[in-house]
Amino acid sequence: HAPDGPVARRIASAIPYYPYKGIPRFYDINGFLVRPDVFQLVIDVLAKRYAALEIDSIGGFDARGFVIGAPLALALKKPFFMLRKPGKQPNAVTSGAYEVEYGSRAGVSVPRGHPLSAEDPLKLSTVVKRGDRVLLVDDLVATGGTLAAGVELIHRLGARVAECACVVELKMFYDPPAGSGLPSRKALFEG
Ligand code: 5GP
Repeated sequence: HAPDGPVARRIASAIPYYPYKGIPRFYDINGFLVRPDVFQLVIDVLAKRYAALEIDSIGGFDARGFVIGAPLALALKKPFFMLRKPGKQPNAVTSGAYEVEYGSRAGVSVPRGHPLSAEDPLKLSTVVKRGDRVLLVDDLVATGGTLAAGVELIHRLGARVAECACVVELKMFYDPPAGSGLPSRKALFEG
C-alpha cells in the first residue's frame, strides 16, 4: 500500500480486453514506469518494508518481475536472481508446469551458482542456498499460479520464501462474488 491507499488502481493503467476478449482488464505497469516519481515511490514503499525483514536474496519473475525486483535489490543491497522461463538461462533448476490466469505455463527456473566457486566445485547448488530467506517479486498477482510455482521451486532448493511482493493484486481472484464458483482466497492460499 502507498501511504494513502492501495497502489494498484492509481498507478497501473488498465487496458480492456488484452490479450484477448475474455480478459476484462490488463493492468499495464508501463503506466507508472514512465513516471520516475511514481516508479521511485513503488521501489521506496517496497524497500521500506523489506529493509525490516531478514532476507538473503531477491528473485524476480520473467519479465516484469525483473523491472521491479532489480531496483529493489539494489536499494536493499541484496543479491538479485532471475526466475526465468525454462530454456531461457543455462545451468538452471526448473519447476514443473503451472496454471495462470490465461492458461498454463511451462515452469520457472532458477540459476545455479557460479561454476568456478570453490565452495561449489560440483555445481550442485544454486544462487539460492539451503536455509536462505528469499523475497520473490513480480509486477502483478492474479491467480497466484506464478508465485506458487516460484515458492515450490525455492522450497525444493531447501530455502524459504520470506514473502512475495507484487505491485498490483487482482482482487477478483481472491474475493469472488458468492456463487461465482471461483475459489476463495483462503482456499487458494491454504496449504
Ligand atoms: P498469475 O500467475 O497470478 O495468474 O498471473 C500473474 C502473472 O501473469 C504475472 O507474472 C504477471 O506479470 C502476469 N499477468 C497476468 N495478468 C496480468 C495483467 O493484467 N497485467 C500484467 N502486467 N501482468 C499480468
